[in-house]
Amino acid sequence: MVDAVIVGSTGLDDIETPFGKVQSALGGAAIYASYAASFFCKPGIVSIAGKDFPKEHITLLKKRAIDTTGLTIAGKTFRWGGLYEYDMNEAKTLKTELNAMKEFNPAVPPSYRDTDYLFLANIDPALQLRALEQMRHPKFIVMDTMNFWIEHREEILRSVIKKVHALVINDGEARQLFKTTNLVTAASKALSLGPKFVIIKKGEHGALLFSDGIHFSAGGYPLENIKDPTGCGDSFGGGFIGYLAKTNDLSEQNVRKAIVYGSVIASFNAEDFSLKRLQSITGADIEARFKDFRAMREF
Ligand code: AMP
Repeated sequence: MVDAVIVGSTGLDDIETPFGKVQSALGGAAIYASYAASFFCKPGIVSIAGKDFPKEHITLLKKRAIDTTGLTIAGKTFRWGGLYEYDMNEAKTLKTELNAMKEFNPAVPPSYRDTDYLFLANIDPALQLRALEQMRHPKFIVMDTMNFWIEHREEILRSVIKKVHALVINDGEARQLFKTTNLVTAASKALSLGPKFVIIKKGEHGALLFSDGIHFSAGGYPLENIKDPTGCGDSFGGGFIGYLAKTNDLSEQNVRKAIVYGSVIASFNAEDFSLKRLQSITGADIEARFKDFRAMREF
């Protein structure tokens, strides 16, 4: 049994930021999200990695008790290349090699199918849908996406949005998908498709929550040391669903707290390349930063 099922990409990333570069670094939405969720609950991943995927990465996931029964190994690993300039809120995609993800047919292991919490992290929305349909009666489904899928699969992406409880999307993508410059308009268009919650991530500036008649804004954490924002969206989503799965409380108050926990994990993630920083944090570090977030909002 797992507490949260996480569907998404597993990848090897080439990243360049003003603070350095890495090649073939561990990445992918399912990896960042499951690692983030593992601070709160037991996640299980549904993803695909190639035969070239280094074994040490799988050992790393197992060390955090992430269930990898749903990780298929076939073909060549998905590869992504991204460049960040001084505005680190936006990645320029230099390459997307789908490789094994092109033929991937996600099979949700029978031991995952009764799980209440499902995170459809960034992957082809057709695959998100196929995974969702194999779950028996998920109580809370969260989804993320990115510009690549908005450009290539908008219609099916909209049909997945209609089936989820929460849409997590970044500001630029919300504007692109809902064809508006205004985030409030984008959020209300997203809500009209069906999700109860829409969370718009604003990079280092935090995240906004919209629901029927409700608005909440979680600030960003004032980090002096940002090295690589890759995976911040995914670790936000993983922290968010991980906290909800741990507490099993879907009240608005708890959803707000989950957003802050997601922001805490994402802020740590930006402090180093790949999953390096997340590998060094403890539960005490998370709680200390959660308190800082709370103190920053008091006036
Ligand atoms: P984020 O910075 O949270 O938006 O996500 C970065 C991660 O998304 C990287 O580790 C990439 O491997 C992965 N990624 C990039 N492009 C795609 C794509 N088209 N589909 C799925 N995952 C992707």
